[in-house]
Amino acid sequence: MRQYLEVKDQHPDAIVLFRLGDFYEMFFEDAVIGARLLDLTLTTRDKGKDDAVPMCGVPHHAARVYIAKLTELGHKVVLCEQTEDPKLAKGLVKREVVRIITPGIVLDDDVLDPKLPRYLAALVPGGKPPAGGELQLGLAYLDATTGELCATELPIGAALDELVRVAPREVLGAAALIAPASDPSDKSPLAPIRARYRVPWNAAEVPDDAGARDELGAIAPADCADRPLALRAAAMAVAYARATQPTGALPVVRLQLYQPGDAVVLDEAAIANLELTETLIGRRKQGSLLDVIDLTTTAPGARLLRRWLLYPLVSVPQIRRRQDAVAWLVERPALCEAIRRALSRTADLERLAGKAMLGVATPRDLGRLRDALAGLPDLIELVRSGQDALDVLPPLLDLSACADRALPALAARLAAALVDEPPSLLKEGRVIRPGYDATVDEARRLTDGGKDEILAIEQREQAASGIPSLKVRYNRVFGYYIEITKTHLPKVPKRYIRKQTVATGERFVTTELAELERRVLAAEDTLAAREAELFRAELAAVAARAREVSVAGAALAVLDAACSLAAVAAQRGYCRPLVDDGLVLEIVDGRHPVIEGLLPAGTFVPNDTRLDPAAEQLVLITGPNMAGKSTYMRQVAQIVLLAQIGGFVPAKSATVGVCDRVFTRVGASDNLSRGDSTFMVEMRETASILGKATRRSLVVLDEVGRGTSTFDGVSIAWAVAEFLHDAIGARTLFATHYHELVALADSRPRVRNVSVAVREHKNEIVFLRRVVAGGASKSYGIDVARLAGLPRSVIARSRQIMSQLEAGSQARGFGSSPQLSLLAPSAPAAAPSPVIARLAAIDIDRVTPLEALQLLAELKSIA
Ligand code: ADP
Ligand code: MG
Repeated sequence: MRQYLEVKDQHPDAIVLFRLGDFYEMFFEDAVIGARLLDLTLTTRDKGKDDAVPMCGVPHHAARVYIAKLTELGHKVVLCEQTEDPKLAKGLVKREVVRIITPGIVLDDDVLDPKLPRYLAALVPGGKPPAGGELQLGLAYLDATTGELCATELPIGAALDELVRVAPREVLGAAALIAPASDPSDKSPLAPIRARYRVPWNAAEVPDDAGARDELGAIAPADCADRPLALRAAAMAVAYARATQPTGALPVVRLQLYQPGDAVVLDEAAIANLELTETLIGRRKQGSLLDVIDLTTTAPGARLLRRWLLYPLVSVPQIRRRQDAVAWLVERPALCEAIRRALSRTADLERLAGKAMLGVATPRDLGRLRDALAGLPDLIELVRSGQDALDVLPPLLDLSACADRALPALAARLAAALVDEPPSLLKEGRVIRPGYDATVDEARRLTDGGKDEILAIEQREQAASGIPSLKVRYNRVFGYYIEITKTHLPKVPKRYIRKQTVATGERFVTTELAELERRVLAAEDTLAAREAELFRAELAAVAARAREVSVAGAALAVLDAACSLAAVAAQRGYCRPLVDDGLVLEIVDGRHPVIEGLLPAGTFVPNDTRLDPAAEQLVLITGPNMAGKSTYMRQVAQIVLLAQIGGFVPAKSATVGVCDRVFTRVGASDNLSRGDSTFMVEMRETASILGKATRRSLVVLDEVGRGTSTFDGVSIAWAVAEFLHDAIGARTLFATHYHELVALADSRPRVRNVSVAVREHKNEIVFLRRVVAGGASKSYGIDVARLAGLPRSVIARSRQIMSQLEAGSQARGFGSSPQLSLLAPSAPAAAPSPVIARLAAIDIDRVTPLEALQLLAELKSIA
């Protein structure tokens, strides 16, 4: 217990798994938590005593599964092993913490999603900002499986959006800033971010500038002195990750510093509403934009493509370089397919390199690495068979450089040393190829030969004793023995030495058997030790070349991601957009990449778009519900993002003047799936657009103002549209069911009205899905209601009320704005009854249930 308490003392925030014999045990509070989360039976140690200690345990061979469960539930797990053989130990067996597993640092392939990075993030706040300024933060994130380490500095207002985009599984902060999650009085500047980004936030030490430089050493880039917060955050993540590993080694070779403005700024709402990586409803990858464009055939390719999509480029030359690569592949469909097939036979070189550096690669991992390396020259040859391949695919140069120099020697070495199909565990043996090492061969000959000899002994003894059922068996307690069933016991020769009686008979040994056993076991020990030694040498050789392996892996990932974009373009008939530094967005026959695929081929109706801050800056889209407004706007935003990642787009042609930010807001009631879809959130998000959008941004507003009453809604929508037009000038798509807004075009020069056309046919409405010039002339709400199956009498009555309302509003000069007039208080047809007036005066939030009942009685008396 003293040993346990010492370990627990050093890791109060973790669940300690303490090795006792064949089990990992948990004690005290850990046991209570562990029993609940893992569905284990809670028992007590020193039963009966007053201070009995709660405990529970898991068998050591199944520990991985339980550890995975705990970390996926957000816990940190400390693995405390026996580090000496209990048989040899004098007194207490020595135990040590051998590994710490945290939600952000998981190396187990069974837990990791091969297509997702696994990030640990760290946040370091800067000093007090000057009056009116915003607090600056350093943000770093580290993927311990590949060694990817990135860091940036940003104002606190942008931190949540970046966290959402990076999606780390664990975030580190200074202890002082990370109060227990339940503390309502948390005044830390990080508190609002924590409240919205819900993963485990763990306390860690924040290094100062000098400490950060020491920690990072050579992995820090040369010109980084001006970004102390980014460096400190990076060092914080690295130090924390290092401490989890027994060797303290990490696969990080380079810190990448970046600026948020290097990529299109996408906030939390845009990432969610545009369904970039997962759907709004159900949060599934299937149905997301990523799902459509992801035809990668390797895990690193899938991870990279995801990153491309979340960080669209803003630099036109960079975008065009990617486009060139994609176009080159599109022009060579057969080559592209051949490359994709070849890629699918490679391995996850980035993670294999990481595992080698961490010392956790298995024999099977090295076997895969060897096979992948062996295939590289052919793959490179294949790509190079296309004309000018090196010009359009510069990563190929890195790949060739590695494949030509460092890697062939490594591949040859692994090929010589390892068997064709190495096992997943070293202790399973048969890792080293026969003929590679004399000691291994000799020891194997002894063990294999010994086993043959044992068979021979069995046959000899059967013949000598005349007992046909005589068997030579093995167990761990007695080693080799001869088993004789009860019926044959009288025939047992005198030279047999009895060892044990069992239910079915008796067990014996002979001197010959004992001698042989000694030799076999000795040879097995030698074999295991030598195989382990040789394997570790291979592992070290890989680790020494891990950097090149990782560079080659990164180059393959680029190739895979580009092939994926090319394959999508070819399969779905996308075009290469013209991306430039202008401000015009022009799309001819654009389609929605996801919805197009859900509909029968050829039934999606393509539409044009033109946005231009100089002339048609704000396009106001009206049209009935279900007409296709939201689809149209999202398709435009998705096409822009696809263009800026260097991909082809679903359109006949497109010109995209690069956007610096893409904003998307969906009115509260259209946005059911985000849970927090209150009007307040909608307005907060709208405020953030008005604060952050520039002339170069793309703003997509879908039914903004919908979450409140019609009067409020129209007024807010109107004012927001005016502000975007007058003060910001961002290219804007604005869908609304408030037809009043159509009049905005009369007073604002750069507002253009379009509507999604519908046709009336024998009192039915037909959705044409076509976006046409001009605002919608009427709302069709009632027609949609009829389609939805409202009773005929209700529909008839609504038409009646509607015409009365329209007559009324026209009389008062509202023009063609039937919806606005709905709530017009003095509309003659709706002369307010006293009941309505009374109802209107009630503030529901302040009424007690009793008062409500009284009111009801009162209303009944008026009616
Ligand atoms: P709104 O926002 O106007 O209420 P949506 O954009 O949600 O309408 O579209 C409603 C449905 O109409 C979509 O789910 C889709 O199935 C269909 N739709 C929209 N646009 C098109 C189109 N261009 N071609 C074919 N079907 C479409
Ligand atoms: Mg809609």
